[in-house]
Amino acid sequence: MARPLLRMLTRLRNDFQLSIITLMGLIGVVGITPYAVYRLLQGNLLVGVADTIIVLSTTAAVIYAWRTGNTEKPGIFLATVFTVGSTLVAINLGVNGVFWIYPLVLFNFFMVTPGKAVIATLLVLVSLVTHAVLVPGTVFQSTYQMTSFLVTSLMAGLLAFIFAYRTRSQREQLQLLAIQDPLTGARNRRSMNEELKIAASIHRRHGNNYGILVMDLDHFKLINDNFGHQAGDRVLTAFVNLIKKSSRQEDRLFRFGGEEFLMLLPSTDKPGLLAAAEHLQQQLRLHLQGPGGPVTMSIGGSILRDGEHWESWLQRADQRLYRAKSAGRNCSIIEDELQPAAPLQLGAS
Ligand code: GH3
Ligand code: MG
Ligand code: MG
Repeated sequence: MARPLLRMLTRLRNDFQLSIITLMGLIGVVGITPYAVYRLLQGNLLVGVADTIIVLSTTAAVIYAWRTGNTEKPGIFLATVFTVGSTLVAINLGVNGVFWIYPLVLFNFFMVTPGKAVIATLLVLVSLVTHAVLVPGTVFQSTYQMTSFLVTSLMAGLLAFIFAYRTRSQREQLQLLAIQDPLTGARNRRSMNEELKIAASIHRRHGNNYGILVMDLDHFKLINDNFGHQAGDRVLTAFVNLIKKSSRQEDRLFRFGGEEFLMLLPSTDKPGLLAAAEHLQQQLRLHLQGPGGPVTMSIGGSILRDGEHWESWLQRADQRLYRAKSAGRNCSIIEDELQPAAPLQLGAS
């Protein structure tokens, strides 16, 4: 199979929203074009032009989504065009046009967030009913017909809402599971590699400063050996909660091995990284109690250098962590500076 076609299929497989916009775009163009031609030939200019605008906008939005990778804007654009277009068609054609409202309700739930789709559905129904009341006999032939239409389209909207809401929250949950460590809630190693790669590429293009701290709990094995694995798990969870609470919102915490963690600090130079390491050490001294007493950690830190590969950046921090362990633990080595060990020594032993 040709390469471009293979690439397109891969993008469709990986990007749910892009595939939905493309599918809906195709259905819209193939389904509405004959109607547009028919209405224009019939001399019904308003509906013919509305149909033509819908077809052209759909094509433009699908092309935009493919070129930019942004699916949110084309989704909102398509939902707006289809909603206005179908409402005009329903008002103009009466009952024959009202049938289009059902697929429109479903369409909107695929294109935009469930909340926005509910608003669009209510706006359509209110517009149609208002028009029907102000100009009787145009949209519906009887009050009974109008009521039936309202009840059935609200039912379709409610079912679509439940389905869209559940699907969206399940998708978000899956995305979270893919990047999160289930025990502590810190991000996982796969996500760490991605974020370090992104940081290195932003640094290359825009020169932003980044620092990392690799943290390893001291003599953690003793906690497991003396108090059991579950007690060890509780310490890990408490550690992550404390570090998250003690860092800036833009700092990212990753669990990178069993009791090894990495913090990525954007907009941070060497003094900033030293200060962050000292602050975290202090927070640990003040607030982290293991089952056998205070828990300490050793830290290695490095600032991303110009032109440096992310793996070498990580390796430099890791080597400093190793040196901090050799220097007696419960201390930090940031770049080449040793921050002396705090008064409290080994925790769990
Ligand atoms: P050091 O001061 O040199 O870092 O010593 P340490 O005992 O902390 O390091 P070591 O690498 O010898 O042991 C790490 C221990 O962490 C061993 C492993 O059983 C434990 N561990 C790894 N993952 C988990 C986990 O998810 N839960 C618990 N409870 N323990 C874990
Ligand atoms: Mg350790
Ligand atoms: Mg370790």
